[in-house]
Amino acid sequence: MNCEICKTENPSWAWTDTHGVAQCWKCGAPYRLYHYEGEGDATKRVEKPPELCVKPEYVPVLQAYHEQTGRIIPSGFSFPGGQELANRSDHETFSAWMKENAESLKASNAVVSNATSGSPRTPDGSSSRVAL
Ligand SMILES: [Zn+2]
Repeated sequence: MNCEICKTENPSWAWTDTHGVAQCWKCGAPYRLYHYEGEGDATKRVEKPPELCVKPEYVPVLQAYHEQTGRIIPSGFSFPGGQELANRSDHETFSAWMKENAESLKASNAVVSNATSGSPRTPDGSSSRVAL
């Protein structure tokens, strides 16, 4: 498979703090690697390809971000100080870029709703949640 955001072929993965979810080592995009079916005791792991954990309308936004900045995208799947690949500077750059560019890329509504919900906060107080 190729990463849908940075187009890397067979990307390496970095686990997040969320079970079964990892980031593309190159761009930081979050993917669900472990898939489950069934409920309760009947839950079992099933083999499926990695699934990008980004709303479809954000895919072109994140592609543009990665292409323009070359920086790691904050996954939104780790606690501050956890296993997140994006460092504080990556978070700040991402937040500033999204404020400036998200509206023109038709994602402003989702950005606003994420900013006011109870999503995880980065050390600088901005939202680290990416389009879930
Ligand atoms: Zn990638």
